[in-house]
Parts: sequence; C-alpha cells; structure tokens
Amino acid sequence: MMNLKRQILVTSALPYANGQIHIGHLVEYIQTDIWVRFQRMQGHEVYFIGADDTHGTPIMLRAEQENITPQELIHRVGIEHKRDFDDFLVSFDHYGSTDTEENKLLSESIYIKLRDAGLIEKKSIEQAYDPVKEMFLPDRFIKGECPKCSSKDQYGDSCEKCGATYSPIDLKNPYSVVSGAAPIKKVSEHYFFKLSDPRCEAFLRDWTQVKTPLQPEARNKMKEWVGTEGKSELGDWDISRDAPYFGFEIPDAPGKYFYVWLDAPIGYYGSFMQYCKKTGLDFDYWTNPSSSTEQYHFIGKDILYFHTLFWPATLHFSGYRTPTNVFAHGFLTVDGEKMSKSRGTFINAHSVITSGLNPEWLRYYFAAKLNSSLEDLDLNLQDFVARVNSDLLGKYINIASRSAGFLVKRFNGIIAPQALAHPLLEQIRNASSEMATLFEEREFAKSMRLTMELADLVNIFVDANKPWELAKQLPPESPSLTHTKLQEVCTVTLEAFRLLTIYLKPVLPKLATEVEKFLNIPELNWQSIHAPLTVDNAINPYQHLMSRIDTQLIEKLLEANQTPA
Ligand SMILES: [Zn+2]
Repeated sequence: MMNLKRQILVTSALPYANGQIHIGHLVEYIQTDIWVRFQRMQGHEVYFIGADDTHGTPIMLRAEQENITPQELIHRVGIEHKRDFDDFLVSFDHYGSTDTEENKLLSESIYIKLRDAGLIEKKSIEQAYDPVKEMFLPDRFIKGECPKCSSKDQYGDSCEKCGATYSPIDLKNPYSVVSGAAPIKKVSEHYFFKLSDPRCEAFLRDWTQVKTPLQPEARNKMKEWVGTEGKSELGDWDISRDAPYFGFEIPDAPGKYFYVWLDAPIGYYGSFMQYCKKTGLDFDYWTNPSSSTEQYHFIGKDILYFHTLFWPATLHFSGYRTPTNVFAHGFLTVDGEKMSKSRGTFINAHSVITSGLNPEWLRYYFAAKLNSSLEDLDLNLQDFVARVNSDLLGKYINIASRSAGFLVKRFNGIIAPQALAHPLLEQIRNASSEMATLFEEREFAKSMRLTMELADLVNIFVDANKPWELAKQLPPESPSLTHTKLQEVCTVTLEAFRLLTIYLKPVLPKLATEVEKFLNIPELNWQSIHAPLTVDNAINPYQHLMSRIDTQLIEKLLEANQTPA
C-alpha cells in the first residue's frame, strides 16, 4: 500500500437524545471506531466526529413529561451517551450536540443558500392537529382502531395485530397520544426543499449512480428513487414544522422551525466546526467543494435515504463538498430474533459494563461478524461466550502466557535476535497488506478470521517445539544448545504475539496498550510490523491480560435487562 497521508473526516450517525445507547447502536459505533483506529495506525490524519441529535417533538414532549426543559433533558442524556461511548472505547475526537450556536448558524446559512438558489417552495398542507394541546401531531402521536381488524390502540402508520399499513387519517376513532383529544384537520404552510427540481434530480442521479462508490444494495435502492431523466420518484422534502417545536426557528418564517432531519446531518458539520474552532483546524479547507480531503458517514441502513439523497443535495446546493462515501450496516438481532424487552435481549450499553462484562469482548465479537454489506448480524449469546473464549483466550492470549515465563526467568526477558528471521514470522508479516485491505474495506470478519488462522499456526509451532520440555532438560544457568533453542522458540512466539497484537489493535485498543507495557515497546502502529522486539528492551513478567467469559455473566446481563412484558 502506498503510504500517502490521507485526510479523513469520519462520522457515526447521531443518536437521538431521548433514550439510552443499546447494543444495537453499539454495532455502528464500534464498526466506525475500528475503521478510524485502523486509519490512525496507518498514520493518516483522521477526525472522528459525533454528536447527539437533540431536536424534535419527542424530545419536547419527553421534557414536558419530566417537568424539565428540553435543554436539561438533552444535557443529561448527552452525558450518559458520552459515558457509554467512553466505556466501549469509541474514540471520538469530538462529541457535540445539534443544539449549538454553530449548528444554528450553519442550518440558517444553508437554508438561505438553498432558498436563494430557488430550491425552497412553500406549500399548504393539511395535517392532524391536537385542538387541546394546540399542536400538529406527527404520525406516531396518533392512535386509534385499525381500519382492517379494529384492534384498539394502534399507531397511525401500521397495526401491530394484523400488520396492515395505512395513513393516520384511516384510523377509526383516532385520538392524540398527547392529550387524548380527537385530532382535527388543520391547514398550515410548510417549507419544502424541491428535490424534484431538474437540477436536484440530475445531481442525485449522478451522485448516487456514477460518482459515489455506494454499496451495491444501497445504489440499487437509490436507483428506484432517482429513476431516469423525467421519470424520477423524488418528491419534495418537507423541512419545516410548526410551533410548538424544539429546534431552530426558520430565519424568514416566524413560528416555523426546521424539521429535525434538516439540522441533524448538518450537526456533523456543526460538531466538526466546534472541533475546528477548538483546535485551529481549517473548517473551510475540509468542507469546500474542491477539497482533497475525504468524508465518510457510517449509518444504519434505515437512514440510508436521508444520507444518500437529502444530505448530499443539501450540501451540494449550499456550496459544500459532498461525502466521499456513505457506509451502511444492517441491524443487530440477539439469538436470531429482534431485541426484546421481555426476553431481556434489549440490552442497554451501560448494563454490559455494570454486569461485569469486558467491553472488548463485545468489540471483538462484533468485529468477528461485521462485513461491508447491509446484512443484519446476530449476537448469539452462546456463540459469543464460545468465540471469545476460544479465539481471544485459547488462541491469542495463550501464545504469550505459554512462553513469556521462560524468557523472563531464564533470559532476563531478552530475546534471541537470530530467531527473528524465522519463516513463521515472515508469514505473519506478509499477511499485513491483505489485512490492511480487509480493514480498509470494512471486512472485519475476514481480518479477524485471518488473524486467528495465523494464531493457530503459532500455537502449532509452540506445540511442536514444546518450550516446557526444553526448559526441563537443563538446569537454569547452563548455556547449551537446548538453552539457545528455548530462547529462540520463546522469541519467535513472542514476536508472533506482538505482530498479531498489531492486527488486533483497532478492535482491542485497551488490550493492545497492556501488551505494549508487557513487551516494553513503544505504541504499536502499522509500521511497527517492521520494528521487531530487540535485545535492548527486556520484556516484563507476564501478567494476566484478559479473562474468560463466565456464562453466569450472561445470565446476569439478561436479568439486568429484563422488564415485565
Ligand atoms: Zn389490524
């Protein structure tokens, strides 16, 4: 691989500030973090930016319910989110919020540029309105009887009993979830981003189908929307909401607010702008249309269309660069089923920590399952225990624990440099470019599989050379051929362990730091592949690096998340 220094801006989707981070969210943050850490190890200039998504009706109503201001709510939730990301070693360079002055100014200026480009249109639309609460009701805030099967208390978009989908106006005896009142119809003027404008259609057709190397599934999905010239399915996008609403007021429209989905993606830039101010980085350099920097968004497949239609169009027509690519992933299931509160599998991130599980176990397991597709992935709890114990403990950690003792006790922790040319080490080093390609392409499952195959070879080498037998054959101080061989076997083994640690470091950063201390070596990066252990640095006595997962911890975890059905 060429080692040109790349400049890369990376984001994960912004979690909504009205609830806790659960393990489904963690798939994405861990996936992004592994990729970011890999890029940092390559020596690239990388900024990993996140923020809480803080606006909209659910936040406004939740704060009201709790008798606090929306600002108090999002402040509290923001602290919890940051705690969870830190716990799971998600290494944001900056974590902000969409409710900031930077994001307000950016949202306003972007809106004004779109308006001045003739891409904003006002249209009157009729919507459900709560006459008691005096507010327009989003679909999820209207319930009633299913028009097909008459089940009561069904949401305005679909019936949980019979599975029918419909629009809220079809519900029988509808009522507002907020006040219980029967909603009435009310007309209001809304602001639309004219995605149906021929300029937008042409831009999006090119951006999604030609210019951007989207995942094939994503590109095909977008093809249905952008269609062919004159035959596009793109509708105009409603970007305004009426007061009362928690968000940013539209500059030239008092009482109208930006819809949360307008200012949420802009929040990537708002948060990045805060970081630039703090560090002196040049925001314009990174975000102008001719920038040579790269920009990637990691997201769940459910919000693909906000990120591959609305977001690039918003950026392009307001004079910014567009994303280099958008990487979508599938959803998490637990034991083959949707996460469920009654089964205890709707697992919140903090409970993993308080139940005593090591967050790197989950990082490894997700890595071992993640690829570059939109396929869902399953956390099978039995497999999780077996996989971590067999791969990380049985294969990887075992390598160090089997040979470090002899090197420390018999050789003061000093290696035999002549052993560093061993073909096994050559083979592990030679895997580095394939490994790098797999990380770059987000094929983490394959990179972990390759790493474990190499670990298997090292264990076969240890079994064949039996350092414990060699150690028995000689009194501790006697120099002899056997003595030399023991030092050589331990050298090959520990250098192999060092190399494997480099390949695992994006996934297991904390463990890698422990290994660096144990081997008494500088911080490992990708270049360290060619900087083997030396006679100048004695390794330290082996200390416990990681424990096995006890199945009792899993029971504890499920119990902690169990809520009565
Ligand atoms: Zn029904």
